[in-house]
Amino acid sequence: MDVHTLTIASIRAGLASRQFTAAEVCEAALRLAEAENSKTNAYLRLCPERAMETARKVDATITAGEDPGPLAGVPVAVKDVITTRGITTTCGSKMLERWVPPYDATAVERLEAAGGLVIGKTNCDEFAMGSSNENSAFGPVRNPVALDRVPGGSSGGSAAVVAQGTATVSLGSDTGGSIRQPGSFCGVVGVTPTYGRVSRYGLVAFASSLDHIGPFARNVGDAATLLETIAGRDPKDSTSAFAPVAGYTEAMKQDARGMRIGLPTEYFKGLANDTGDQLAKGVDLLKSIGCEIVDISLPHTEYAIACYYIICTAEASSNLARYDGVRYTFRSERAQTMAEMYQLTRGEGFGAEVKRRIMLGTHVLSSGYYDAYYLKAQKVRALIARDFAQAFEKVDALVAPVSPFPAFKLGEKIDDPLAMYLSDIYTITGSLAGIPCMSVPCGTTSDSLPVGMQILTRHFDEPGMFRLAAAFERAGGFTV
Ligand code: GLN
Repeated sequence: MDVHTLTIASIRAGLASRQFTAAEVCEAALRLAEAENSKTNAYLRLCPERAMETARKVDATITAGEDPGPLAGVPVAVKDVITTRGITTTCGSKMLERWVPPYDATAVERLEAAGGLVIGKTNCDEFAMGSSNENSAFGPVRNPVALDRVPGGSSGGSAAVVAQGTATVSLGSDTGGSIRQPGSFCGVVGVTPTYGRVSRYGLVAFASSLDHIGPFARNVGDAATLLETIAGRDPKDSTSAFAPVAGYTEAMKQDARGMRIGLPTEYFKGLANDTGDQLAKGVDLLKSIGCEIVDISLPHTEYAIACYYIICTAEASSNLARYDGVRYTFRSERAQTMAEMYQLTRGEGFGAEVKRRIMLGTHVLSSGYYDAYYLKAQKVRALIARDFAQAFEKVDALVAPVSPFPAFKLGEKIDDPLAMYLSDIYTITGSLAGIPCMSVPCGTTSDSLPVGMQILTRHFDEPGMFRLAAAFERAGGFTV
């Protein structure tokens, strides 16, 4: 069995024909993960006991002649901002280094109920703040495609393990691009569903109005299958949507003929040469399979970064107030007084980027500045969402770059937060609007670095997004 080329479909077929057992898949994946991890640092920990327990249940179900579920025997990695009962969940932070959550996130519970094997927790930027995975308190992740480069962030570990093949699929989280951007940097599929489509219960909060859980996979079908199992209303998250979950894998069967695709002109300025060339090839391919391509304007794009960094830092400053040394494990040992305990715990427990955001967020929410920054940003957010709503009156989907450039070198942008923030210039808009968006591979640059193409559709039109992505994949778009 070749673990790193397994897909959900090939695992299903192998189990059905008794070619291998779920326990064998599990052992092989764990062995490979163990062997590969020294190169990439993508896993913070493996969970062999838990994964093997599920694998044995899957095998027993099969032996009993019953249906083991859509993810039976599939090795799944989970970003370490998503809670796992009894298994440390650090959020890439010293603050939570020893925190063992007493509950599973709904997404984890659902994927395990479907037979998925949680094999490990993946490294990420601290509290999901970053674009390169260099903000983790546990060291950076290296991109398996080019080890001197970043895997993207903040879900860098979850993208890397799928690219290296130690997990078949994984879960990441996306607030402003953290699934799509690492997906594009590592050459895998990354999906940010509609806001509210997947329960946030058990996703440690960064910016609650923007946080999403979504899948990574090596093909469109695997991402669609994983999303189908985790999506849907959850009474434990009041913002989770009641809308029934559509059949994403079913939607993939339809071809893309006649789809109207908009290219947002604002997104194609300032791309690195190779990135622009690859996207042009991708767009030509879409034309050749019968899509109609039109230019579209999203006029408020230029305000997206400023708007996002006001809203996400405001929400983060509030969400991260809970890490005070009283709850959640870490407490400074140097404190003599209560005030010192708060100060030193937060001073020692958080990294530089998290502190920068808490300060910025506290500032934009403070009296006298609230109207000028926070309220203004909320109005701009509404305008950005309106740009998309107007575009979708004319087209079925938008196609855009994911990132202006491919994976950059470790250390290249770490001292320049503003340059780092620009990595997300094309992903933040979709997050602010709350619409479904995904990154699919679209060939490589001349130095073999993956380029991603972004597909965006209307709220809850995941079926349209998967339909287009699958048609692109079938036509050879991944290696265009
Ligand atoms: N890179 C963006 C940020 O640093 C997005 C992060 C995310 O989506 N979690 O905020």
